[in-house]
Amino acid sequence: MWFFYLPRICNHCTYAACVGSCPVQAITKRRDGIVLINEDACRSQLQCVKACPYMKSIYNPAEGNSQKCIGCFPKIEEGLVPQCFENCLGKIRLHGWINEPEQADPNNPVDFLVHEMGVAKPLYPQLGLQPHVYYIPPINVPDEYLFQMFGPGVAEAKDAYQRARDGEGGDYRKMRGLLHLIGSTEYIIEQFEVNEDEAIGYDANGRTVAKVPMAEPRATRPNFDGQHNVYRLDVT
Ligand code: SF4
Ligand code: SF4
Repeated sequence: MWFFYLPRICNHCTYAACVGSCPVQAITKRRDGIVLINEDACRSQLQCVKACPYMKSIYNPAEGNSQKCIGCFPKIEEGLVPQCFENCLGKIRLHGWINEPEQADPNNPVDFLVHEMGVAKPLYPQLGLQPHVYYIPPINVPDEYLFQMFGPGVAEAKDAYQRARDGEGGDYRKMRGLLHLIGSTEYIIEQFEVNEDEAIGYDANGRTVAKVPMAEPRATRPNFDGQHNVYRLDVT
């Protein structure tokens, strides 16, 4: 038996069905990729609600308009990650810009995970909207099931993730460093590097905004506490 939890926000799709469906042009896609509904211009036609196959545009009868995730654009404009990324206790969300595959930058975190390592996959790519939320497929779920959700390459993605987790060198070590950086700062990491001891994240101005050790420092205490005349069970 297996199960997994899939957090789903608006995908801010390249070919956003919600944008094309709106008869009063109340939905726009910004230059930074964020798709926004102008709630004042919305005329409650509900076409975006019907058009979005991810069910991310929702009609709010109390307000009399359609609403959806705004990608926290005021924070993005300040170089900060969206609030649900910052709040994530599991530290599993990384926000950033993605380049076209042929212009992939190996030191851009999202390019590295999506284009270089192929470890993060879009949800239902077969729908053709080019969604921009990418998931590292869960390793405990059968490939056939994951294939219909994330498309080709899920087996390779799971393998790459396990290699990084198991501590293999080269790009897998670099990926492990990047995974350590996820959730370590409220700032958007535009570039990163991994050296002998640390993974380091930089903002758009080259300022260091995150630094995490590649290995957690460990201390081992003697298992007998002479002062209190007791044995300890947890010594690390
Ligand atoms: S997920 Fe739905 S609401 Fe979001 S941009 Fe894509 S089509 Fe629009
Ligand atoms: S916190 Fe921001 S990015 Fe996250 S779902 Fe809400 S509006 Fe979208």
